[in-house]
Amino acid sequence: MVGAVTASQGTADRRHELAANLAALRRRVIAACRTAGRDPEEITVIAVTKTFPAADIRLLHELGVHDVGENRDQEARAKRAELAAGGFDPDLLRWHFIGALQVNKCRSVARYAAMVHSVDRAEQLPRLAAGARERGRVLPCLVQVNLDPEVSPGRRGVPPADALTLADLLADTPGLELRGVMGIAPLDGEPAAAFATLAQVARKLQARYPAATVLSAGMSGDLEAAIAAGATHVRIGAALLGTRVVGV
Ligand SMILES: *Cc1c(COP(=O)(O)O)cnc(C)c1O
Repeated sequence: MVGAVTASQGTADRRHELAANLAALRRRVIAACRTAGRDPEEITVIAVTKTFPAADIRLLHELGVHDVGENRDQEARAKRAELAAGGFDPDLLRWHFIGALQVNKCRSVARYAAMVHSVDRAEQLPRLAAGARERGRVLPCLVQVNLDPEVSPGRRGVPPADALTLADLLADTPGLELRGVMGIAPLDGEPAAAFATLAQVARKLQARYPAATVLSAGMSGDLEAAIAAGATHVRIGAALLGTRVVGV
């Protein structure tokens, strides 16, 4: 009994914390939009729930969040199963896959993702398409652009100069829908410069594919710069859910 009371008190505290973080985040988005002369309605906030428990996803949904981001297939599937087992339909939320996309995970990810942000290799395309087909729907995808000035091996994303080539392949893959681009500003660089590069790629892409309107950019530390550069989707972890354990 004591345990139950403590647990529900813990849930209430967490709900309060998430609600406060969400309110602060919404104020930040509104202020950034005002500075940039944009309408906050244009911005989709994705709550990046990686490393946080399924219970947080449920609380966020109760607080009005519709979009969650996960970066590992195994973790996303485990949370979806846990939510379903608890009587909560995980598809009440849109699940954005934002992490490194191993070829052998593509098919699985395509079965539940509402949008895949991290397409960066041609080998992923047929596997993603196979998963989308199994689910009987077209899968919206973004090309991830590498925004590091010095492209180092192992970094994710295609170099800006190669983004259109991969986008053409994606657009030609039945079952996949090219919706735009995604980028991560380099840790030690100037986010405005990186996002300007991304926006330039986005404009070229949209000239060829008018439906490719999504610009996924901006995290807890740089969402203002991303919104100034035209971001339509911001991916927010720490500012909403708190500090993650290091290394993830
Ligand atoms: C973790 C992660 C985020 C969120 O980062 P925060 O700094 O916690 O807001 C955004 N995008 C990607 C691709 C991530 O992996």
